[in-house]
Amino acid sequence: MTDHLLLRGAPLRKKILNEVGAKLRELEKRHVIGRLVSICIGQNDGASIYIRNQMRAAKKVGIPFEKQFWHGNISQGDCKERIAALNDDSQVVGVILQRPTPEHINLRSLQSAIHPLKDVEGMNPASIGNIVYNDLALAPCTAAASIELLRQTGLRLEGLEVVMIGHSEIVGKPVAFMLMAEGATVTVCHHLTRSLAAHSRQADVVIVAVGKPKLIRADMIKPGAAVIDIGINQVVDENGNVTIVGDVDTKGVLEVASWVTPVPGGVGPVTVAMLMRNTLDAFNLQIKNGWVS
Ligand code: NAD
Repeated sequence: MTDHLLLRGAPLRKKILNEVGAKLRELEKRHVIGRLVSICIGQNDGASIYIRNQMRAAKKVGIPFEKQFWHGNISQGDCKERIAALNDDSQVVGVILQRPTPEHINLRSLQSAIHPLKDVEGMNPASIGNIVYNDLALAPCTAAASIELLRQTGLRLEGLEVVMIGHSEIVGKPVAFMLMAEGATVTVCHHLTRSLAAHSRQADVVIVAVGKPKLIRADMIKPGAAVIDIGINQVVDENGNVTIVGDVDTKGVLEVASWVTPVPGGVGPVTVAMLMRNTLDAFNLQIKNGWVS
């Protein structure tokens, strides 16, 4: 396995955070940025890692950060009231909602309740819908991170044959629309696709967001292709040790592909950096709209 084919997220993350920090310093000569509020509702074991990463990135660029833990029994109505209060608070620049939420919570309705100018995750249906019109004011962070990583390969996106595996609202569909906007030819595959390999073998780029370890094997990849692995899966080995892997058999695929993003260490670190870039963009939009003095 040759290491140079691994497309790691750390250098890009660093570059994005440096840019965001520098632009923020400029803006702060005239305006004061509010805090970024990250909300976790109920018991969510995975969320603490995400929140810690968000906090670190925010600290690095100089955005004030606040974590809020809401009780698992909180009602939908109370959640909406609290979100409305955050929308109205001029000291809050953006709102992040950890997933998953408890079963009785209607997540999409809460995401809709976050004001589009404070929707730093790009999850409000209005933000998602705007992608269809190539309006990427606040793009969903994971989708944007995958495309930024793909740009690092130097491949020209125009006319590129891309196969997007997974068609969720928060990852697969936004990636497909954003790449179409770049001029790529995009095929979207999902759980009902008859022959995944027949599609993926034709592709210059395979992007996968499914949640199944080793779904993508070497024999499914065209030699020289780029493979962007968005999946995050916990696997337990025979000794009971838990590791995080993506959807790609990374070791095997590296034998045929030209670039593969590792998991962990690929899309994830860039996603958090995109969250900070979105927060800066949200701050700019709020200044433009006269929300910030
Ligand atoms: P989801 O469950 O909403 O969607 C899964 C998608 O996979 C669906 O489109 C489904 O049709 C498709 N699928 C299921 N089985 C398939 C199969 N055998 N062949 C082809 N397609 C199949 O998932 P999601 O929220 O989009 O997340 C997908 C993965 O990405 C998960 O592992 C999640 O943890 C990860 N994720 C990572 C980040 C990140 O920042 N890196 C962010 C969000 C999600």
